[in-house]
Amino acid sequence: MKRYDNYSLSAHNTFGMDVRAALFVEYETEDELRRFLQSGDLARHGRHLHIGSGSNLLFAGDYDGVVMHSALRDLEVVAEDDSHIEVRVGAGYVWDDFVAYCVAHGWGGVENLSAIPGEVGASAVQNIGAYGVEVRDVIVRVEAMALDGTMHVFANAECGYGYRDSVFKRGLRGQYIITHVVYRLDKTPTFRLDYGDLRARVEAGGTPTLEAVRGAVAAIRDSKLPDPKVLGNAGSFFTNPIVTRSHYERLKETYPDMPSYPAGEDLVKVPAGWLIDHAGWKGKALGRAAVHDRQALVLVNLGGATGKEVMALAERIGEDIYNNYGIRITPEVNFIL
Ligand SMILES: Cc1cc2nc3c(=O)[nH]c(=O)nc-3n(C[C@H](O)[C@H](O)[C@H](O)COP(=O)(O)OP(=O)(O)OC[C@H]3O[C@@H](n4cnc5c(N)ncnc54)[C@H](O)[C@@H]3O)c2cc1C
Repeated sequence: MKRYDNYSLSAHNTFGMDVRAALFVEYETEDELRRFLQSGDLARHGRHLHIGSGSNLLFAGDYDGVVMHSALRDLEVVAEDDSHIEVRVGAGYVWDDFVAYCVAHGWGGVENLSAIPGEVGASAVQNIGAYGVEVRDVIVRVEAMALDGTMHVFANAECGYGYRDSVFKRGLRGQYIITHVVYRLDKTPTFRLDYGDLRARVEAGGTPTLEAVRGAVAAIRDSKLPDPKVLGNAGSFFTNPIVTRSHYERLKETYPDMPSYPAGEDLVKVPAGWLIDHAGWKGKALGRAAVHDRQALVLVNLGGATGKEVMALAERIGEDIYNNYGIRITPEVNFIL
């Protein structure tokens, strides 16, 4: 097990914040993790955080506790029939490497989730989604270790999945460490192309294939999203708010081009990026934090910004959106205070 005191997390968060953890540990086996949890170090340090690759985290400052990271990177087929295959993957496996593996083996289900930063463990915490697909659609079960070292298996239905949400983000936050996730993939892929210009891009190349979908998704994402290696960011900063249809209809009288998507009976989802853009925030900076100039949903670190500066910008935007539209937008990014 790797163990470092006063450890810099700058390579472990895509906002590029130069913050430190009082103790950082990275384990390679479940036994190592269990021994560490039972060592008393968590209690001694007072608080703990398990991270993946830090692509959805915003640190307000140094972390005066234990930061844990998984180096469980195994992958095995655990069940198979004529139409499906079930794969069990270690939480530390890089998510996009897993997508590439599935595509290379002809297994469908995760190709629309290509090029999302992060690791397998966090995919099951965040219920990652893109291009009309959410990972909950393919998760069979999640294996996790409680802080006393005992193992628990959560069936998909027990994970409380919602839009970018799960029990691991809410009621069970900080109580379980995900060690493995089991995914169920299709041997005969069904292509889901009805999102944005994905179909046009894929079909321009002929009959759809998993490789073509993966390539098209990656190309669209490249053209729209800033690369965290160049400009620190954590992807979409806010979730898309859900409002009542009557609230939306009233707003539409003033803003006829405000888009929406159905979100259940009498509810609609409004793109947060549209609200932020139309409130005039695109490209605006507050100190060293800014709204990206091509994608209003993404807040960026212009260089040397602190987490508090990004949080202050997010708060100002949130107030403005509420004052303009009467809609509360909430961060998708996990604030680490
Ligand atoms: C450029 C960019 C584009 C993005 N695009 C998308 C997108 O299209 N769709 C989307 O859904 N997200 C997107 N994201 C957000 C991000 O990629 C996802 O939220 C991802 O799942 C985070 O993975 P991570 O490994 O970096 O997790 P982290 O950010 O390190 O952690 C996220 C949460 O998971 C918890 N966690 C991590 N590992 C474990 C574990 N093993 N056990 C228990 N808890 C754990 C953490 O405590 C934290 O609460 C994007 C981010 C960036 C930077």
